Amino acid sequence: MPVRPRVLAPIALACLIALSGCVSAPPTTRAQASAPPAHWTYEGVDGPGNWGKLSAAYQECGVGEEQSPIDLPAAVPASTQETAITLAQPTSDGHADDTGHTGQFWPAHPATTLSHGGRSFELKQLHYHTPSEHTIAGKPAAAEFHFVHEDAAGHHLVLAVLGQKGKPTPGMDAFVNAATAGEDVGATLNFESILPAASAYYTYEGSLTTPPCSQSVPWIVLSTPITLSEAQLTKLEKLHGEIARPVNPIGERSISGGSATVKRG
Ligand SMILES: [Zn+2]
Repeated sequence: MPVRPRVLAPIALACLIALSGCVSAPPTTRAQASAPPAHWTYEGVDGPGNWGKLSAAYQECGVGEEQSPIDLPAAVPASTQETAITLAQPTSDGHADDTGHTGQFWPAHPATTLSHGGRSFELKQLHYHTPSEHTIAGKPAAAEFHFVHEDAAGHHLVLAVLGQKGKPTPGMDAFVNAATAGEDVGATLNFESILPAASAYYTYEGSLTTPPCSQSVPWIVLSTPITLSEAQLTKLEKLHGEIARPVNPIGERSISGGSATVKRG
């Protein structure tokens, strides 16, 4: 935690000068700002139905009207937009760890650039959910992979790929093994062998699916799932069991269709 030493150093200095009163000293503004986020889970009293009440910072989880995930229609709406996913390199080095809620991979360098709606986003991390969070015509898939992107101003966009049981997808072993190792491990992923070459997608305006559930997040959900072997799925399911937020009302939102292409940069 890089913040802690900076907070403690002035307090320690103050103790040396004053020689008293340090134990009862009120926390500094910086210490309050660095307070850890409220604990949340996928079941029980800290579960999704109560996320909005666990912390003022999580309010949007409860009152937000454009929350994710949602149930998607069986048919993808006709394509009205295109999205280019450009791979900087065929493979991406990085590291993976158990966040306490999922297994997650962080690329060491910008691995993919995604161009959507005239904006450019870079991949920041990849994690998974079991079963899927988005459902199609009411049915969940076995897993869902979230490629969380950010633009230069820090705005999020999530590319979601559903995972169904079937043949193992080449390249997913590296993610599955690293994400479920239970400790921080180095990993090299080949996104070219994970992402489908071209795919129709659903797109809509939603939110992060975990607290603080921040809104104004464009979603791109590829309609074609990738397949994973039973062994791959079992490893993912074993780490944290069911880690999926239930679907939210669509409300006033509309779901559009698009077409994604994956290419090398
Ligand atoms: Zn997610």
